[in-house]
Amino acid sequence: MNDLSSVPESAKDPERPARQRKPDWIRVRAPVSQGYNETRKLMRELNLNTVCEEAACPNIGECWSKKHATVMILGDVCTRACAFCNVKTGMPRAVDPMEPENTAVAAAKMGLEHIVITSVDRDDLPDGGAGQFVKVIEALRRNTPDTTIEILTPDFRGKMRAAVEAICEAGPDVYNHNLETVPRLYPTIRPGARYYASLRLLEEVKSHNPMIFTKSGIMLGLGEQRLEVHQVMDDMRSADVDFITMGQYLQPTPKHAKVEEFVTPKAFAAYGSIARAKGFLQVASSPLTRSSYHAGDDFAQMRAAREEKLRKKDRLAV
Ligand code: SF4
Repeated sequence: MNDLSSVPESAKDPERPARQRKPDWIRVRAPVSQGYNETRKLMRELNLNTVCEEAACPNIGECWSKKHATVMILGDVCTRACAFCNVKTGMPRAVDPMEPENTAVAAAKMGLEHIVITSVDRDDLPDGGAGQFVKVIEALRRNTPDTTIEILTPDFRGKMRAAVEAICEAGPDVYNHNLETVPRLYPTIRPGARYYASLRLLEEVKSHNPMIFTKSGIMLGLGEQRLEVHQVMDDMRSADVDFITMGQYLQPTPKHAKVEEFVTPKAFAAYGSIARAKGFLQVASSPLTRSSYHAGDDFAQMRAAREEKLRKKDRLAV
């Protein structure tokens, strides 16, 4: 048997493209802590999927050691095939009726003050999966009433209004829907989605309940231009989005979209300053920023920022 362990991937199979080399500033902690193992065991026991694992998130070592995991409901098979995403594509299985209660048990066992729930796209379901989001929110409110709830939903293509209405009625604290990239790159990066439909979803949340915080994010390094990123920020602000996240796109496997650029930490900081100047209540912008990275701390800061803003308004009105 040949020992190929020291041979670069691309040299083992000339048909197979090489993994792209990451710069020094993308350093992540290896997932080896006791907290990591306990989180993994709990998720398996409760038959829950996480986006942390399915999306091969680089922060899993850090987040799971602190017992922060983002539960991915509605199964582990997605009906879309976005060029940036590592989640499996295909025909999903039936929805697990125990998922809402199991999610609440996980939140209780991990002692979560703030939980993030996301899902795969379920274009096969009549409600796009909105009903399961509602059940999860209700189960969390019943079992862990002090846990604040952040949801990160798909675009519910073709059924957005009813889905958003039902979810807003259930009352999450934060509603996140990611724009993912600039509109010019949608046909290649997010071909099953429409940029303006996603923006409308974010507007719709605010029109149902202005007290729900809205959040959205984009990945950088996919070939977007600086002014296009600024335009996305303006579009989000026009939709009254409270919180923007910006992080480096990383290619999960050589079959996925290539990284066109590793954006420097300095450039991320500059984007962050511009976003703050544009009026977002909360901004997270760094190479390792992900939608749910440090979500609890960011939520607390965002809530404090809104309270301060309202206090200022009251003072001016007197
Ligand atoms: S950043 Fe989010 S998706 Fe990544 S490991 Fe942390 S909680 Fe999971």
